[in-house]
Order: sequence, then C-alpha cells, then structure tokens
Amino acid sequence: MNWLEKDKELIWHPFTSLLGGAAPIFIESAKGPYLYTSDGRAILDAVSSWWVNIHGHSHPYIAAAIAEQAGQLEHVIFAGFTHQPAIRLAENLMKILPPNQKKVFFSDNGSTSVEVALKMAFQYWYNQGIDKKKTIALNGAYHGDTFGAMSVGERSPFSSPFNPYLFDVEFIDFPTGENDSEVLDQFKSLVSYGQVGAFIFEPLLQGAGGMRVYSKDILDSMISFAQDNDVICIADEVMTGFGRTGKLFATDHLENNPDIMCLSKGLTGGTMALGITSCSQKIVSAYESEDTLKTFFHGHSFTANPIACATANASFELLMKAECQEAIKRISDQQKKAASRFNSFKTVKKTRNLGTLLAVELNTGDGTSYFNEVRKRIYPYFLEKDILLRPLGNVIYVLPPFVIQNNELEKVYSSIEQFLKEL
Ligand SMILES: *Cc1c(COP(=O)(O)O)cnc(C)c1O
Repeated sequence: MNWLEKDKELIWHPFTSLLGGAAPIFIESAKGPYLYTSDGRAILDAVSSWWVNIHGHSHPYIAAAIAEQAGQLEHVIFAGFTHQPAIRLAENLMKILPPNQKKVFFSDNGSTSVEVALKMAFQYWYNQGIDKKKTIALNGAYHGDTFGAMSVGERSPFSSPFNPYLFDVEFIDFPTGENDSEVLDQFKSLVSYGQVGAFIFEPLLQGAGGMRVYSKDILDSMISFAQDNDVICIADEVMTGFGRTGKLFATDHLENNPDIMCLSKGLTGGTMALGITSCSQKIVSAYESEDTLKTFFHGHSFTANPIACATANASFELLMKAECQEAIKRISDQQKKAASRFNSFKTVKKTRNLGTLLAVELNTGDGTSYFNEVRKRIYPYFLEKDILLRPLGNVIYVLPPFVIQNNELEKVYSSIEQFLKEL
C-alpha cells in the first residue's frame, strides 16, 4: 500500500471532508518558501503554511536550536519547575511587547492562548467578586476552534453543530470605515450598560473572517473607552504578531495598549506548537493573593515545552536581525504596489493591504462566504502552477514567509493577474 492510500484509510485531516475531496499532496521536504513533493514539484508557499511560517521552512538556525535543546532538556513539568529556554523567551518577548505587558503564561497553540486569555479575564472579575460576565467581540471574528475561542468567534456554518454549547457574546458590527461612528456608538452603549468584563479583537486585521482590515482610529477609540470603563481588552495577535502587519505587533500601530495579548503561529517561526498569553500588572494584581482559591488553575502537559521555547528564541533572534526587518519592509512595499495593480481589474471588488498582507476580494456576487463557488476554482488553479494560495471564499490573499524574494512574489502576482483575466 502506498503512503496516500494509508493516509486515506487512517487519517482525518483538518477542515477537510471525508468524502469527495482531492487527495492530499505528499510533501517530502521543505526549504525557504518551497514545499517539495516526492515527484519533484517545488510548490511556492504563499500562505506561510496557514500563516505560521515567517523565516522559511526547515531553517538551519532553528533546526540547530531544536537539536541542541532536544539533547539537553526535552521537557519537564512546568508546575514547580522552570528552565532557561522559557525564562529567556519571556525576557525576549518583554523587549518587544507593549511596555505594559508584565507576565507571560505558556500554552500550546493559538486557540489555547485565547482560552487562557478569556479565563484570565473572567477570573480577574471573579477573584474580586465583581459581576461583569459579558464579553464583546466583532462580527466576523475568528479566535480558534476550541469552545471558548469559538464562543467569541463569528457564528458560522463551521460553528453550527456547536452553537447551542457556546456561551453568549455581544457581537458588534465590523467597522468598515463608512459605519465606524455607528459601530463606536454600539460599542459605547454596550460598555455603558455596565456588565461587560472583556473585549476581544484581532487588532486591525481579521484573518479567517476574510482578511479584513479596519482602522486604527476606531480600535484606539474602542480600547480607550473600554479601559476608561474598566473593561479588559484582549488583543488576539495570533496571526498579526511577529511582523505580519509591517510592525512587530499590530498593536504597535495603536496608541492604547491592550491588557492581555495572545501569541502563537509566528512565535516559533512556524516550526513548533507554542502559545503565549501575556498580561499587564493590572491583571496579575487580581491573582496576587494568599487565598489559594484565587490561583489561576490552568495548565497543559506541554506548558512551556523547552524545545518549543528554544525554537521561539531562535526565531526571535532571526526576526530581530536587520536583514529580516528589511525583508518585511521590502515585502510590504511589493504587496502595496501589487494591490494598486489588481485594483484596475473589473473582476476585483476591492484589494486590502496591511504590511506583508495582500488580499484581493473578487467580484463574484455571492459574497465572502467560505463556501463561495469560486473558491473551488482558485485553489487548484494556483496549485497547478505550483503556487499554494488557499482562498477564503472569494478572497485570494498572499501572506508569505519573509524569505520570499521579489521574483517569487512576481510569479504569484502574475498568476493572480492571469486568473483575474480568465475569471
Ligand atoms: C489561527 C488563529 C487562532 C487559532 O490558532 P490555532 O493555533 O490554529 O489554534 C486564533 N486567533 C487568530 C486570530 C488566528 O488567526
């Protein structure tokens, strides 16, 4: 039996229907922005393997850090024990996170970093005996696939089977620019009602919701109003963190600092599973107590796994190099130019660009639904050209690792142009 037959028999893939789908592509190795198949194809990874990869695949510096750490200390329980990779990572992150962030809590992925953030915020109120159980989120939000994360995400066909089990959240309209003042009014009246304990958002850029960008002014106004009214602001930077928006974090574009931040994806350069939730002293203070029942009782088997932390430290060093910062500028520049190039097509409804992200929304009538028919054409169209683009409904986006070169970006752009002409 060959590998693909065994895969089909034994494995359940994410976001993939068990019947009728195309067979997965068997990847043997990867280097830089390329994924190599056993039959000799080199596929250009223009979506950073689900937005995680920032320094290219199988980076030798990261690989060496993993090997070294694996030979030294592979894992140890993190309750009652600690180690250098975790402490160094905390120290490294404190150098680049907003200055109000004071402590980090480790978990395993983006969804768990959101679960931790929500639980941290909810217990913040519980510990003080204050009844503020409502949470505000934005329409179109995506915060992960676990229950808490799903609860604060948009109710969609993906969440339908689980909707009865999700906790209630107040969703406000997505600020489109035209409706910003109404959205701010909605937000203010909810907050003024008094029961709101937390506000969670993907800062400036909603990822899974269709790569939608919104203005920093409205987000700043919302955070500022929320904090004036003692509402905990949670910035989910799982996707936007580590250079994606042109700055290290999307919140670096803002005047106001969130109380809690969620990190994953680019944290380890996209190499190991790791999540981090950071928070300000305000949050920490509600837990500094002799009363055992005010402890944050949360933890995962692999909390602060030393190999994952060492990987994140290696990725951090690469990210801070001038070379990487210049690449982020160069790619942001290219993406901006490409956006104006695609704008002239009749088949394009809108382009969006923020830092290293470029999104092209197609004029296909039936909206941005993930199940938009055009999606079924886009994915194989580009794969045939050895380019990995995974559209969100009628939105094609390019979110590459920072090692992608201009000629490789050009290859992606000209195939998108070709597609727009044929559409
Ligand atoms: C991907 C994503 C998550 C979930 O992260 P996982 O590692 O897939 O669990 C949460 N929030 C945002 C904004 C994301 O883009």
